[in-house]
Amino acid sequence: MPELPEVEVTRLGINPHLVAQCVTGVVLRRSGLRWPFPTDLAQKIVGKRVQATGRRGKYLLVLFEHGTLIIHLGMSGHIRVVTQNTPAQPHDHVDIVLEKQLLRLTDPRRFGAVLWHDNTDGAIEQHPLFQRLGIEPLSEEFPQQFNGAVLFKATRQSKVAVKQMLLTGNVVVGVGNIYASESLFLAKINPFTSVNKLTLAQYKKLASAIQAVLTQAISKGGSSLRDFVGVDGKTGYFQQNYFVYNRKNLGCKRCNTLIQQVKQGQRSTFYCVKCQSGDS
Ligand SMILES: [Zn+2]
Repeated sequence: MPELPEVEVTRLGINPHLVAQCVTGVVLRRSGLRWPFPTDLAQKIVGKRVQATGRRGKYLLVLFEHGTLIIHLGMSGHIRVVTQNTPAQPHDHVDIVLEKQLLRLTDPRRFGAVLWHDNTDGAIEQHPLFQRLGIEPLSEEFPQQFNGAVLFKATRQSKVAVKQMLLTGNVVVGVGNIYASESLFLAKINPFTSVNKLTLAQYKKLASAIQAVLTQAISKGGSSLRDFVGVDGKTGYFQQNYFVYNRKNLGCKRCNTLIQQVKQGQRSTFYCVKCQSGDS
């Protein structure tokens, strides 16, 4: 599933091909994905020029003067820029046709979304999908400060496990299963610790770890930017070296203790019982 870094790398990949381009057509090959497509999408954006791209959590934003196109990649979606005569394949559901190329959304499992937000309905931050989202850990477009103090303050009344808190996205967005495990390892925090038991100092380490892990993932994806253009592009899924994720029964890179894999909620949590004992 695309996580925040993959979505951000997607944005970086398509951004140069979109900004200042005029939309000349919209092709919808089905009526919707997770939700119905806006039936008047062509009326909204054909003849309009893209001003910028953005991201909120795992939602890609294509900003126009009068509104915003909201795209979600779902479980398996990806986006690439192709020439206008590139034949559509079975899972290519949406084309946003530009002056020279087109932006194509491919989504085999169809959990993605394409929505329109009109500026007359308020600021994009007020869109119903975004109202309950936590703070952006990295973004410059939604510049509420993310740090350890924010995490500490938001968690005093809750006893949920810290990894679960990260995954819900209510406090901070974009820390999916992989990056939650990795961040907690770097911050030396046991994933099962109740959020109200963690100290401000621990949350400062955790906030720094989250930012470091996401930033590193985005920079790793940077090498795949050219893949967003062209038919055969493998978009946005990049190989990384993890400390704990997917390393069950392999030696911890710090202390050589075997990494544990346990079910937490419905997801797998990977951690080192020694490094993340909560003693340091
Ligand atoms: Zn260890």
